[in-house]
Amino acid sequence: MKAIVVEEIGSFSIRDMDTPVPGAAEVLIRVSVTGLCRTDLKIIRAGHRDLILPRVPGEEVVGVITKAGPEVKRFREGQRVYVYPGTSCGNCEQCVSGAGNLCEGMKIMGFHRDGGFAEYVLAPEASIILVPENISDEEAVLSEPLSCCLNALERARLKPGERIGIWGAGPAGTLLNRAAAGLGAIPYSVEPDERRRALIGGFASPPIKGFDAAVVAVGSADAYLQAIRHLRPRGRLVVFSGLPRDAAELPVDFNRLHYFEQTLVGAYGCSFRHGERALVMLSEGSITVRDMISHRMSLWELDKALGLVEERAGMKILLFP
Ligand SMILES: [Zn+2]
Repeated sequence: MKAIVVEEIGSFSIRDMDTPVPGAAEVLIRVSVTGLCRTDLKIIRAGHRDLILPRVPGEEVVGVITKAGPEVKRFREGQRVYVYPGTSCGNCEQCVSGAGNLCEGMKIMGFHRDGGFAEYVLAPEASIILVPENISDEEAVLSEPLSCCLNALERARLKPGERIGIWGAGPAGTLLNRAAAGLGAIPYSVEPDERRRALIGGFASPPIKGFDAAVVAVGSADAYLQAIRHLRPRGRLVVFSGLPRDAAELPVDFNRLHYFEQTLVGAYGCSFRHGERALVMLSEGSITVRDMISHRMSLWELDKALGLVEERAGMKILLFP
């Protein structure tokens, strides 16, 4: 099969590899579509905490099962599936508490094992979810970034009717906005780039003084400092986007957190149940994503696609092997 392989940070190559053979409880999936996100740019250009090389990247995958291992019980060949990119143990303290994304033995597709930037990908039976019939492959593949947004909104303890500020209106910020609305909250997107905020009806600066919750979906220290100043008493700030390592330490007024009983919480990735929930929301129509797809490209044009991500020229870019 053809695949994108990262052997060292900073570059990748298009390679012919042996098509993998599924283990007893694994399935082989022919990739129909894979989503490109900012993390892929980071992985290839700068590396990532969880990345082990050499690696086929790609953590957003929808495809068709072409072969199932002998112990696979719930799935069969020909089924259209979404791959939850994590594999958690199910037994550790984090898994038992519902935070499978923080599993001590977490293995992420595209980081620890080969991902979907290839013609075929392997996945454990425990990581796959059937795609509902009424949604397309293209919509279903957005379940992965949407799942991460649902985890962030869960961490925000967002309730219907609450006002949430979302900094950044790229693909993740846009999904956060729509997911928050889908959960009955009132989202306000803050985005300086006029082109980006157009799709979501966002604002150049925060339109109200205090938010019940805020999520920062842009790797900007200034955005974090602005967001924290715009929290109401008992407001919650979700640390959703990572910052460049040399910008990760910020001056935060702890007295303000103390007097106003405000909360800072982190959010990283998603658990399996967020993937299930994302597909249900897409299937029920409580969130729509079709208009977010700005580019459909061949996977083998990855270099060009990464350039578009770097320049923030598009919204969601989908790649087809
Ligand atoms: Zn675990």
